[in-house]
Amino acid sequence: MYCNCNRGQFDQLPQPLFRLICHCKTCQKYLDRPYNDECTFLLKDCSQIDIDNTHFTSYQTKFSPILRGKCKVCSKVSYCITKIGPFRHFVMIPTQLINMDPPHPVVHIYYDRRVADSNDNIRKVCGHFHSQLKIQALVFTSIISRFFRL
Ligand SMILES: [Zn+2]
Ligand SMILES: [Zn+2]
Repeated sequence: MYCNCNRGQFDQLPQPLFRLICHCKTCQKYLDRPYNDECTFLLKDCSQIDIDNTHFTSYQTKFSPILRGKCKVCSKVSYCITKIGPFRHFVMIPTQLINMDPPHPVVHIYYDRRVADSNDNIRKVCGHFHSQLKIQALVFTSIISRFFRL
């Protein structure tokens, strides 16, 4: 179900900024799965990713910051790119495609749209507004903490 054409491009990824599980209807449609388990990176940290071989579509409005990618060769799901607010471009890669031990997910978002309950002790956030707020908070805190570590 995921593109397997060029798995080597995910070999040398840095630690993700965060991992989350999204239950929104758009992710469900994009993946044809109940939820999207994905890791977010700064695009500039992932220079080996082959953007040219990925076809990106906006599944929501033209103004949505998220572009969801499918492989130009096999048409299967690959990864998404985005730009949130004034920040740089991000890439969100399905955790299954990452060739490393991933961090634990920090949150379930759009949990009110879920197909099935998740029996874990990870925080669940419901509704569009609170889910978007949570993403922005995660992006902000991960960028700030990275900035002060450097
Ligand atoms: Zn492919
Ligand atoms: Zn989603």
